[in-house]
Amino acid sequence: MSRKAKGRRATLMVSLAALLAMTAWAATSWLQARQTDVVPANPSDAQKQSGAETYPTLDPGLFKGEVREAYAVARKNPALLAALHCYCGCDRAEGHRNLLDCYRDQHGSRCEICTGEAIEAERLFEQGAPVEQIRDVLRAKFARGH
Ligand SMILES: [Zn+2]
Repeated sequence: MSRKAKGRRATLMVSLAALLAMTAWAATSWLQARQTDVVPANPSDAQKQSGAETYPTLDPGLFKGEVREAYAVARKNPALLAALHCYCGCDRAEGHRNLLDCYRDQHGSRCEICTGEAIEAERLFEQGAPVEQIRDVLRAKFARGH
């Protein structure tokens, strides 16, 4: 065999190996892509979750007075509360991400700050205040060193 022929053979082997590697890579990424768009094994779980998103907060009828009012705000205007921060410290104590989280359980009924914030936010919202302004007012009124 001439040196030239040997060289060509080696080149062929290398490209064959490269081709194999690419095929393997393509197959793996195809499999991974398939796995990510697999439907959840239990579709009722997904339904439950979206149901929880529709009615994430407790029934205002369970409470009285201002607390009831605050839970009613959460029902009526969840997007507003979700855009606001709760200054009672529940973000650190209970992992709340926003004021709406306070109304997903009884927390909002035991906390003057949560109640006050929701009612104040709704009042300002009704007056047409933009959410940035509502945020500023709540911070000034309820933050207390946070
Ligand atoms: Zn709170």
